[in-house]
Amino acid sequence: MRSLRLLLCCLPLIAACSPGGGPSSAVLYEGALLIVGDGAEPIGNSAFLVQGGQFAAVGRVGEIDAPFGAARVDLSGKTVMPAIVDGHVHLGYADIAAGTDTPANYSRENIVEHLERLAWYGVGAALSMGLDRRQMYGLREETIPGAALFRMAGAGIAMPDAGPGAADRRDVPYGVTTEAEARAAVQELAAAGVDIVKIWVDDRNGTVEKLTPPLYRAAIDEAHAQGLRVAAHIYYLEDATDLLRAGIDGFAHGVRDVTVDREFLNLLAERPDVFLMPNLPDSGYLTERDLLVRAETLPESAVERMREQLAARTGPVPSPFFRLQADNLLRMQDAGVRVVLGTDGDGAGWDAHEEMADMVAAGMTPADVIVASTSAAAAVAGLDDRGTVAEGMSADFIVLEANPLENIYNTRRIDAVYLRGSEVDRSGWTE
Ligand SMILES: [Zn+2]
Repeated sequence: MRSLRLLLCCLPLIAACSPGGGPSSAVLYEGALLIVGDGAEPIGNSAFLVQGGQFAAVGRVGEIDAPFGAARVDLSGKTVMPAIVDGHVHLGYADIAAGTDTPANYSRENIVEHLERLAWYGVGAALSMGLDRRQMYGLREETIPGAALFRMAGAGIAMPDAGPGAADRRDVPYGVTTEAEARAAVQELAAAGVDIVKIWVDDRNGTVEKLTPPLYRAAIDEAHAQGLRVAAHIYYLEDATDLLRAGIDGFAHGVRDVTVDREFLNLLAERPDVFLMPNLPDSGYLTERDLLVRAETLPESAVERMREQLAARTGPVPSPFFRLQADNLLRMQDAGVRVVLGTDGDGAGWDAHEEMADMVAAGMTPADVIVASTSAAAAVAGLDDRGTVAEGMSADFIVLEANPLENIYNTRRIDAVYLRGSEVDRSGWTE
């Protein structure tokens, strides 16, 4: 059926066939409301030229000269935003449809499928945060058609056997006990070409040993000497405060025990480059709308299981845990922290949209959430050519049916996803 449709549409004007003609052909996209991704006012009646997989020119309709023979795509009534960048994922779960408690599966096939799922949902790149096994490292060098780019922290650093998650992943991080070991781990990561260093500073409710201040100071110092930034998993304000003093570059979670205090906010204000991935807990706002997004790529049985969990939930909405973290997020944002999307997700793809809605529920504006989810996240992942729709950037963008600046849920109303100038096949997931 698809080939018949393509044939019919090509009959009237052969030159119009090139939108599917690969990244080297020029295509002018006209008429959309364009959200650039850097926080600037959106461009109404926009026009942008994609050539060679990049944005060759960006402006308004009538301002851009398309090369002879360029195809034109009418996007009137649509909204365009940059592809999403997720700053905090963990890829390697066996079966998203079966749930996240299934055994880890670090096969290339499984991880590529996760990257394809991400692309399906408009995520163009994902930074994997510290549970990356050595056999995954090579994926960082690949650009897979129709799949999100893989960026990584590689193996993170914790105390021995104090890594996160299920037992089958606990051996992935470096377990260090001396400053020399911490430095050696960072040197190995630098040699492996990681994009960032991940450390865990959390006792997991008293069940494991926290990475100690001398150890994380050694890791941070060595990372900076190697030209790498360090992101910390945290829970407690006390640790977050000392990590700022130690030169940490960002937080992969919010402060979750108490309301952040003046001392912490003052330290933060002195460090305007520090980033925060709020990684908000379940707000309690999970609704039918969230389930509908998941249903796009999940079997009905899995959606039904979620619906039952939803129905069984009790307690106030939003939960006190969500309120605390939302409040800390806004206080840190006011102090100047760079907010960055990080889902802590397993490659399911929809979590980016749920987290974006949660960030708005927490009190951020949709405009700020989109910056956090595009240009700010791209910067943390070291992707200088991603995150905005601007000349010279990789042509990674989402065409939406409605404007997410008006309602963040509109990020889910995806009409098309383009990565490196080529349209991602969204004709179906399961077949
Ligand atoms: Zn995580």
